[in-house]
Amino acid sequence: MKVMMKRILTTQTVSKGYAIGPAYPVIRRELVIERRTVSPEEKESEIRRFQDAAATAKKQLESIAGDSEIFEAYIQLVQDEALIQGIIKKIRDGSNAEAAVEDTANEFIMIFEMMEDAYMRERAADLKDVKKRLQYALAGIVENPFTELREPAIIIAKELTPSDTADMNFDNVLGFLTELGGVTSHVSIIAKGKGIPCLTGVKDICSLVKAGMMIAMDAGTGEICLDPDKGTIEDYTDREARFEERERVMDEESKKPSVTRDGHSFMLCANVGNIEDIKDALKSRIEGIGLFRSEFVYMMKKDAFPTEEEQFEIYKEAALLMKEKELTIRTLDIGGDKGLDYYEFEKEENPFLGCRAIRLCLNMPEMFKTQLRALLRASVYGNIRIMYPMLISIEELERANALLAECKEELRQQGIAYRDSVEVGMMIETPSSVVMANEFAQRVDFFSIGTNDLTQYLLVVDRGNKNISGLYDSFHPTVLRAISYVINCAHVHGIKVGMCGEFASDEKASLILLGMGLDEFSMSAGSIKDVKYRLRNASYEEAKELAAQAVKKATAEEVKALL
Ligand code: PEP
Ligand code: MG
Repeated sequence: MKVMMKRILTTQTVSKGYAIGPAYPVIRRELVIERRTVSPEEKESEIRRFQDAAATAKKQLESIAGDSEIFEAYIQLVQDEALIQGIIKKIRDGSNAEAAVEDTANEFIMIFEMMEDAYMRERAADLKDVKKRLQYALAGIVENPFTELREPAIIIAKELTPSDTADMNFDNVLGFLTELGGVTSHVSIIAKGKGIPCLTGVKDICSLVKAGMMIAMDAGTGEICLDPDKGTIEDYTDREARFEERERVMDEESKKPSVTRDGHSFMLCANVGNIEDIKDALKSRIEGIGLFRSEFVYMMKKDAFPTEEEQFEIYKEAALLMKEKELTIRTLDIGGDKGLDYYEFEKEENPFLGCRAIRLCLNMPEMFKTQLRALLRASVYGNIRIMYPMLISIEELERANALLAECKEELRQQGIAYRDSVEVGMMIETPSSVVMANEFAQRVDFFSIGTNDLTQYLLVVDRGNKNISGLYDSFHPTVLRAISYVINCAHVHGIKVGMCGEFASDEKASLILLGMGLDEFSMSAGSIKDVKYRLRNASYEEAKELAAQAVKKATAEEVKALL
């Protein structure tokens, strides 16, 4: 029976682009976990069976790891003492190795999945992958669901793991459609990196698609066409050709300087969370790093706050990678929705209004000084700028600076090198910092506007609450006027202003921001090309006019009507 053409619309675009081709559904052999009680005499040999399987899994991972940080993390996981000891204990209590691996790994997976932070939640997927590897190794099976992928096809899967992508021949991958996985999942990172169109969160796609069924997908709009007719294929082919032409032009453009067509320069920078992100960002022509979210350095640790030495090594490597380009490292912004495995935050009624970011650091001066010392020591290797988050008062700034001065003095006495002139700036992301921008601008070296928080605090709309997400709108005149005021205050006192909130990468907003005089636009590396294309083709004079009109509008809708 001929299946009728069917259109699906989804919203989770990970990586734009078009793909037309046959479906390759990923079919996995399900492993049935058999459970039995091992006798006391069998226990030691069962433990050895598990240890052999772990060694096999480790060897397999080493052979595919290359310089991938993900597989490095997997190798750490198969050797993780807490995991291994948990499994061995279950075997000693009478479980067979398969059941012990299943139950122990599941306990850890549950802990990861319950974490607030999306990045950490997705690390549960890593452990699931490692668990599967251990179980295949116990069963003596080498699993590769891609042996039949011999022609270009669109990969359809419930979920794709790093192990899957290690087995894949990317020359034959036209696109990805998966039911699970968010924008920070592994398949998303791979798809973005390789420029393969990818949509995640596509409900029921596995049951809707059969092997070989033709699919046309537009990952930009989120449209998927199953079994498209001839006219639809022609339409997609046309759109694909236009998209590729635009991509080609944008690639060319992105190599050119960041300057508008009437000669006004701006800076395009990247937001990053680790060294790998910096390496990726450097593949685009960026002027610097506008935001290094140092909380990831803390969140990757499992047992204790990172030491000065551990942090120093990371910041130094980042500085060396960036050479003379600016590298803005934000001091620890934890609390609110972001937790740590090894530190219990006090329960708060309103965590976003509670002891987060600079407030926590000022309450824990020794912990804060560890980071400041590491930053100061790394500052001699490049152009590090230190940035404080969430300030609301001059007193907080002064207290943070006093701790920084103490650190400098200690380093001086110990004869350890640091850059005395290291620039110190702040995020503008609280209403108070906006109102006090004139005073702050006289006391710091730069501002960076964090519209993610600023929008939520100015409009009193929780940035993560889906029920009211319609109210969260950075085009609201309140937000636009605040931004404009902050930029003016900064420029009166001769300091530069960047923006590292998501709003900086909004293609439409970027013109208004340019017109307001924003000096630096910082965003995830994937968005840089689009914004650069738009700004390079803009006129600064026209953008100024647009900004002047935008700040006079009474509603967000009126602002958007201008664009
Ligand atoms: C912001 O608030 O805009 C920002 C960049 O910081 P974060 O998203 O990390 O809170
Ligand atoms: Mg913020």
